[in-house]
Amino acid sequence: MYKAPLPGELQARLAIESAIDRFLEYLQKIYKIVVLDESDYHAQVFIPSTQASADFRQYWQKFLENVAFSTDGYSKYKLWDLTQTFIVMVNVNVVEMVKLTSKDGQSLEKCYISPTKRRGVERRCLIWAPVKTGELLGDKQQCGIPKTCAKPDCPICAPYGALDPGNKTLIGRVTHGGGVAIQDIYPVDKQRAMHPARLVNQKNETPIPFKRQYNQPGILYPVSNHALSVTDKEFSSVAYAFLDSLPRIGSGNPKGISIAESEEQTPLLVVDRYLVPKGKRPIISPSITNPETAIANFMNLAQYPHTNIDHIQKDYFERWIGNKALEKLQEYASDFVKNVLQA
Ligand SMILES: [Zn+2]
Repeated sequence: MYKAPLPGELQARLAIESAIDRFLEYLQKIYKIVVLDESDYHAQVFIPSTQASADFRQYWQKFLENVAFSTDGYSKYKLWDLTQTFIVMVNVNVVEMVKLTSKDGQSLEKCYISPTKRRGVERRCLIWAPVKTGELLGDKQQCGIPKTCAKPDCPICAPYGALDPGNKTLIGRVTHGGGVAIQDIYPVDKQRAMHPARLVNQKNETPIPFKRQYNQPGILYPVSNHALSVTDKEFSSVAYAFLDSLPRIGSGNPKGISIAESEEQTPLLVVDRYLVPKGKRPIISPSITNPETAIANFMNLAQYPHTNIDHIQKDYFERWIGNKALEKLQEYASDFVKNVLQA
């Protein structure tokens, strides 16, 4: 599929990119057509053999009528979330910005991935996770958006919460935090911030060192997920959703984020499991703009009061750091696949 040329003007571009984004999401949800590869100019899609027609003109027309510009479309297609996201994304910047004041009184502008959006993407990853029979977990559990099932043993609702209007509410026990970028960006760089690949290629300024040092282009976003009073099984949903959501976060191209690494290729990741919080929480102040300082602070806080360790065990407290943390999360995610998806 070839895309129409994208306009250079930021707002117009955001509107078109988010429309294309929602359309691709619509294809996936309704026709099980998934995107394999995508650039500014094209989208390569996989069409399952059960799908007789690949008439994208017709699909686009249906999308415009039934979803994008429909007032009642969601009741039929249950795409309320899609409609809502579409509207929100057109009216608000895809890459959100926050304004901050640093310690010396200077005004900073930073990119922002909102915790609410991450939460939404994570929930959708669970709803759309494939189960053994070939259906989606959401269909199997009869749990979706906006009609969450609100059953206390639902692997989606138990950690992420649910609202069944008039009947019951299930309080979510996972909270999402952080999301304010480390690097501040200047207005001229704003548009390119959406496209990390270009951020690296076009200018010979600061972006180049990020690529060289941290093995990946773009901006660092410290984030946290906190699960309160959950069982190991419930946490396995959270671990799976977090890892599965990374390539799907953000809009435009290239889509996706990944876990940043230090110069030594250590993932900048910490997993804590505790009844009593101990050690120091590796939270980075939004007033820090230097990635090297941020990474050094993160590792110091994570390993405190030691250095060069990847595991801390105390009474009622255990912490995994770096590669050990990634292994631990992946272990939980595998448990989710084994005990929920493949069970
Ligand atoms: Zn549910």
